[in-house]
Amino acid sequence: MHEGAVAQSLLSIISAEAKQQNAKPLAARISCGSLNGINAEALNFAFEAISKGTMCEGLKLAIEQKPIRAKCKKCDYTFTFELHEPTCDRCQSDDFELLPDAPLMLEEIEFEDD
Ligand SMILES: [Zn+2]
Repeated sequence: MHEGAVAQSLLSIISAEAKQQNAKPLAARISCGSLNGINAEALNFAFEAISKGTMCEGLKLAIEQKPIRAKCKKCDYTFTFELHEPTCDRCQSDDFELLPDAPLMLEEIEFEDD
């Protein structure tokens, strides 16, 4: 899995931001597409390991998974793809294409305020 690499890049972004704010980061919220399949537990574990001794030590990561979007080829409607109901929300067609998965994004960092 690629959680180790993701943790590494998150650590450098959050550290740079923390330095700029001159505050200790407590938590961060990230989002990614469902197809990206980032495992929250594995990511937190990897982050914990590499952040030891840095100002990011103890930081909690929350991951929000964005739904998969699809576009209907019949009516051009864009809808949220559900595995249990893989049809267009508007015309019920099953002729659609999946849209590219949402990229991994750092949404928000929460800092300790003093
Ligand atoms: Zn449709």
